Amino acid sequence: MALQLYDSLDRRLKPVTPSHADGVVRFYNCGPTVYAPAHIGNFRTFVVNDVIRRLLELQFGRDQVKHVRNLTDVDDRTIGQTQKEQRPLAEITKKWTDKFHADCAALNCLRPHAEPTATGYIKEQVNMIEVLMEKGNAYRAADGSVYFKLDSFPGYGALSRIKERELKITNPVADADHKDSVSDFALWKAYKPDEDGDVKWPGPRGAGEGRPGWHIECSAMSKAILGDTIDLHTGGVDLLFPHHENEIAQSQCCNGTTFSRHWYHSEHLLVEGTTMSKSKGNYYTLGDLVEKGYSPMAVRYALLMGHPRKQLNFMLDSLRAAESALNSLRTFRGSLGAATGQEAETFASVFASLHDDLNTPGALGALFSIVNRGPSNVDQNAFDAVLFALGLDLEVETKTEIPAAITALAEKRWAAKQAKDFAAADALRQALAAAGWSMLDSKTDYKLEPVKK
Ligand code: AMP
Ligand code: ZN
Repeated sequence: MALQLYDSLDRRLKPVTPSHADGVVRFYNCGPTVYAPAHIGNFRTFVVNDVIRRLLELQFGRDQVKHVRNLTDVDDRTIGQTQKEQRPLAEITKKWTDKFHADCAALNCLRPHAEPTATGYIKEQVNMIEVLMEKGNAYRAADGSVYFKLDSFPGYGALSRIKERELKITNPVADADHKDSVSDFALWKAYKPDEDGDVKWPGPRGAGEGRPGWHIECSAMSKAILGDTIDLHTGGVDLLFPHHENEIAQSQCCNGTTFSRHWYHSEHLLVEGTTMSKSKGNYYTLGDLVEKGYSPMAVRYALLMGHPRKQLNFMLDSLRAAESALNSLRTFRGSLGAATGQEAETFASVFASLHDDLNTPGALGALFSIVNRGPSNVDQNAFDAVLFALGLDLEVETKTEIPAAITALAEKRWAAKQAKDFAAADALRQALAAAGWSMLDSKTDYKLEPVKK
């Protein structure tokens, strides 16, 4: 059983395969911009990517998938927010990163193996820009910014099939006076004291102080962590152009080889026919829905009720349907016997749908046709593999609510452990224990549990 996903570049269904000798599938998913809460539209994309990660783990083995998801913590929007709030960039991005992590955990999304930040990879971005300048793919503009020279890359537009004419219409703005061509895009943005506050770094050789353009971060972080060629790159459809098109141009011109062997884009969540978006303000956060009494697991379930490559109109009714479906699954699981070893066959139809371009509504339909027949030949292990693939945690409702201060301590300890600061990690573990919580670590994640008295 092999996962096939539609490849937006080749325009066909293709199996996801590893290309390196170590057999590890290298998977990069563009992450959130941390200047505001992520809404459930954003989480549709992250939940869909979480199911991809889970299916790849089931297919290739837990240690044979390397999943990277970045945090955009410097760009026009994050800087705009620091100006609006008159607070340091790091303070704002930390606040929204913590919130994002808490929501991901509530939605039962596996933690990526690496979660690089744009500000943590400035050197790598600068290096890449310098290579592009040396190779003649980029140039310094009069104000000290650096632009990618679009006509130096003949392959530009292969992903989005964008024609140059359209390119000029969709990209009419910004600094045309400094660019050689209106369609060139920024790799490095020169420092503007009145707009950028104290956000600046030394630039590439020959350029001025400033900050990286948005697109270069994913090219540089993907190269640094996963290497020149990756096996799967994903994001929401809005990222296809220009973000991913620009990533391809930068990476391929710098590295001289294929950037990603497979591109997958999932569709948007809509509200009353319009894309849910931070800028439109027409969104629900997970917190909004929890306040209305819905469980995060019902939100996850509802996000999986639509085909990921089709737009999905969000309605509160679907959350009620999701709660009731979860209850049926709980009752079903309670009625199952222990493992019999005959697990593989029972849910083959569910996995067949998931493997066929991530047809999650098909998979849920197949699952319920089994659930509705009753538990005859099914054992718990087989059912739990399905729950793992979909990321449905049926026990979640009975768990104790974890206070935000405890989650914050746990996040700090996890970060200290990742940074190999074991003294700080131990001190934080003791602080958690004193507050009545224990932290159970696995290789890529942790779980918080109240200390049993
Ligand atoms: P952002 O935080 O704006 O950088 O977006 C993070 C991710 O959410 C990207 O992959 C976007 O494509 C995706 N996204 C944004 N809006 C929606 C939406 N309404 N439905 C689904 N995904 C979205
Ligand atoms: Zn990206």
